[in-house]
Amino acid sequence: MAEEEARATGRCLMCKRTFGYDPATVETVLIDPETGLPPGFTVLGTFRPAGPDSVARSADQPICPECLEKAAELWKTYNAPPPTWESWPPSKD
Ligand SMILES: [Zn+2]
Repeated sequence: MAEEEARATGRCLMCKRTFGYDPATVETVLIDPETGLPPGFTVLGTFRPAGPDSVARSADQPICPECLEKAAELWKTYNAPPPTWESWPPSKD
């Protein structure tokens, strides 16, 4: 995103870097300020139904493009295509 397109500035939720973004297109995560986690997530990494009060006080936090890129690379690393083995007898193609 070019800097002149930025209409708002904020801190990235992940790296805490201040960056400019377009509020209409920026990637966001809903965060409960009381826990610092998305509503319904526990500190143990488990999930439970989010209470309406938790959802009400939560706000969308922006994520910078660099962190999105890192997340996409991590996703690729942990979701690599399964290994393939040659079949026997070798196929004639
Ligand atoms: Zn970031």
